[in-house]
Amino acid sequence: MKNFYEVEDSLKLNNLGNEIHGMISEMYPICRSITGNGFRDTLRIISKYIPIKVKEVPSGTKAFDWTIPKEWNIKDAYVKNSKGKKIIDFQKSNLHVVNYSIPIKAKMPLSELKKRIFTLPDKPKLVPYRTSYYEENWGFCMSHDDFIKLKEGEYEVMIDSSLSQGSLTYGEYFIKGKSKDEIIISAHSCHPSLCNDNLSGVAVAATIGRELSEIKTKYSYRFLFIPGSIGSITWLSQNEDKISNVKGGLVLSGIGDSGNIHYKKSRNGDGLLDKAMAHVLKQSQEAAKMIEFSPFGYDERQYCSPGINLSVGCFMRTPYSEYPEYHTSADNLDFVKAESLADSFGVCMKALGVLEGDGIYLNLNPKCEPQLGKRGIYKAMGEQKDNVKKMQMAMLWVLNFSDGKNSLLDIAERSGFNFTEIKKAAKVLEDNNLVKQL
Ligand code: ZN
Repeated sequence: MKNFYEVEDSLKLNNLGNEIHGMISEMYPICRSITGNGFRDTLRIISKYIPIKVKEVPSGTKAFDWTIPKEWNIKDAYVKNSKGKKIIDFQKSNLHVVNYSIPIKAKMPLSELKKRIFTLPDKPKLVPYRTSYYEENWGFCMSHDDFIKLKEGEYEVMIDSSLSQGSLTYGEYFIKGKSKDEIIISAHSCHPSLCNDNLSGVAVAATIGRELSEIKTKYSYRFLFIPGSIGSITWLSQNEDKISNVKGGLVLSGIGDSGNIHYKKSRNGDGLLDKAMAHVLKQSQEAAKMIEFSPFGYDERQYCSPGINLSVGCFMRTPYSEYPEYHTSADNLDFVKAESLADSFGVCMKALGVLEGDGIYLNLNPKCEPQLGKRGIYKAMGEQKDNVKKMQMAMLWVLNFSDGKNSLLDIAERSGFNFTEIKKAAKVLEDNNLVKQL
């Protein structure tokens, strides 16, 4: 198995972007929800990439202040006009039905039907995504353009769904590292045909999992494919014994659009991944933004609730409230881009690489600078003068600040070098017995 450190340079991001997009295409048509067979079908696709364990938690189970809801499944749904023509058809898009709608078969006039239809008047071509998880209800969604064309008359509505005792399903993949200290990678996997939110997070998480499974890692990694909110609440309530091992984590959410990266820090703001991500973004993504924690958004709300207080941040591209395609039919396969998916994957791997490679070193020759030339260190670096000069400077930074107090990441931050360069310099010095890792 390779070390993490050896992997970073060899990642072939271009191919990966297309591969991740392909995985999203495979999951896109499925009607997912927070429970039910759509979620299970999605886990089956993920399990082609990584060997996840599928967990089922029965309806009615308590999860802190919450209760696992009944399981929802749907086969078909439509609205027909008086001529028997389907004017809304679930088979064309699962967004047309309010997610978690109870079954209904009825005839009604337009005035009644209209009360059950959601549209977006300010985005008249798009179909909205609506849910009613915790209140038994039913409804349809359609484009406002189609809505205003509806004529008076009697309509037939049919939703062939079921809401019954069952379970909440989630997927978990654990990679055992050298240490029992672990990092959580979490992706909400409950939205139906929407790509950025959050099949992008699901597919990138699975790809990171596959990549890490082939590397010797210092940390253990736990991947969670869970329904939003209720899923993280359920996992945390059932795994309180594991929480003390969690040293950091990432919620991956909305990471396939072409906007700039936004990283929302954990509640404490100074977790392992907060620092690693700040460094990687500063070094490689000029337009990226760091955002302070707030108690809304995705599952970081639960991981960072005061009684749990894990250092879990949220990695996004355009924040969910800031793109018009959010929670609409326009969040489709064209909206997520292979390059963005590959870039998001690459940045996450770089940040994890910082965690994996960081450490505190001790200068074994601290009285004045050691004579590097006589050890053949420069020759070993090859001919390119600029590279040699750069590496020499990086080595001087490592030697000077490896006093047992500063980590390599601290040295990278202080020197302006990127972490990989500082890590490489430390490796050369270690190979020449000039520093040792504490
Ligand atoms: Zn969402």
